[in-house]
Amino acid sequence: MIQAKAYAAKDEKTDLAPWAFERREVGPHDVQLEILFCGVCHSDLHQIKNEWFPGIFPMVPGHEIVGKVIKVGDHVKNFKKGELAGVGCLVDSCQVCENCKQGLEQYCLEGNTQTYNSKGRDGVPTYGGYSSTIVVREEFVLHISDKLDLAAAAPLLCAGITTYSPLRYWKVGKGHKLAVLGLGGLGHMGVKFGVAFGADVTVLSTSPSKEAAAKALGAHHFVVTSDPAQVAAVKGSFDFILDTVSAAHDMNLYLSLLRTNGTHICVGVPSESYAIHPFSILGGRKSVGGSGIGGLPETQEMLDFCAENNIASDIEIIDIKDITASYARMLKGDVRYRFVIDMKTLGK
Ligand code: NAP
Ligand code: ZN
Repeated sequence: MIQAKAYAAKDEKTDLAPWAFERREVGPHDVQLEILFCGVCHSDLHQIKNEWFPGIFPMVPGHEIVGKVIKVGDHVKNFKKGELAGVGCLVDSCQVCENCKQGLEQYCLEGNTQTYNSKGRDGVPTYGGYSSTIVVREEFVLHISDKLDLAAAAPLLCAGITTYSPLRYWKVGKGHKLAVLGLGGLGHMGVKFGVAFGADVTVLSTSPSKEAAAKALGAHHFVVTSDPAQVAAVKGSFDFILDTVSAAHDMNLYLSLLRTNGTHICVGVPSESYAIHPFSILGGRKSVGGSGIGGLPETQEMLDFCAENNIASDIEIIDIKDITASYARMLKGDVRYRFVIDMKTLGK
């Protein structure tokens, strides 16, 4: 077995603390990474606090993983020792169902295996990227171009693909008015991709202090959602709203901002269900859709698109011992826009 160091939550009431555990040996189809950076997603916090469902503890969060390949199995074809590579939210799926065959492993009909807080197909719990090393089957490992800053590339593995995938699926681009609701880790990537795809991008935010930063990301307009006059001015105006909000919010209000035939795309996952009045969607034939992360081929496509177009996350690098304080800052919206853990600090 491979010895790994990590930060783990013992249960939903306890802060993360150092923990040592074992990973499986590198099998013939596996790639082992030394983890260099790991992004901090709001999903990490939702899960260590059991906000969605009872979790598997001890829990090592982290699904925005980048690092260096340190070992490959005998049958591994696409990765070599010494290369840069990444792992996102998925580490396995059945590979044979109709969704997996189309590269939609996130919607595997047998259920996918997530990078942490999940059980592998062998029944063994998975542990994520707040750790020194990870072993993953080759099909779930991504290539990271050395054109990208490695730390700033880490959040692409979740925040990046989660916003890229729905914008591609709904073909958002030139001639569309796109609103990005919530300017956090996901939201700021939604702005960058929306702008790159040619849409007219508005940020809908609860935080007036983010306006200059939103414009610096390329957003064309900024609306403070607590100001009724600013909200009234954009009623019925958007083709799409990309909803990245992590907490309960008034869907009926935001649906009123869509134009006829507009689509509200949910990617944020508050712990409570949404309350949507039928009038909010039937007047104007509006749709509410959702999208979960992205499959492996599209994640690679997104990473390559980012390398070609010089897109990465805006990050603040942290020491792993500051993780609990960083969660508190994330909850207050006090991060521009993603914390990334320098995993070297695990050894200190
Ligand atoms: P984040 O960095 O904390 O950003 C969330 C943003 O939502 C905040 O910055 C804030 O933006 C806004 N917000 C927070 N509370 C709000 C409230 N009560 N009302 C309105 N807006 C509020 O989180 P993240 O990492 O981007 O993740 C966002 C959500 O997506 C989380 O629920 C996460 O679990 C989920 N997620 C889903 C997927 C998927 O596959 N669909 C993948 C990854 C993450 P403003 O300050 O601009 O208002
Ligand atoms: Zn995530």
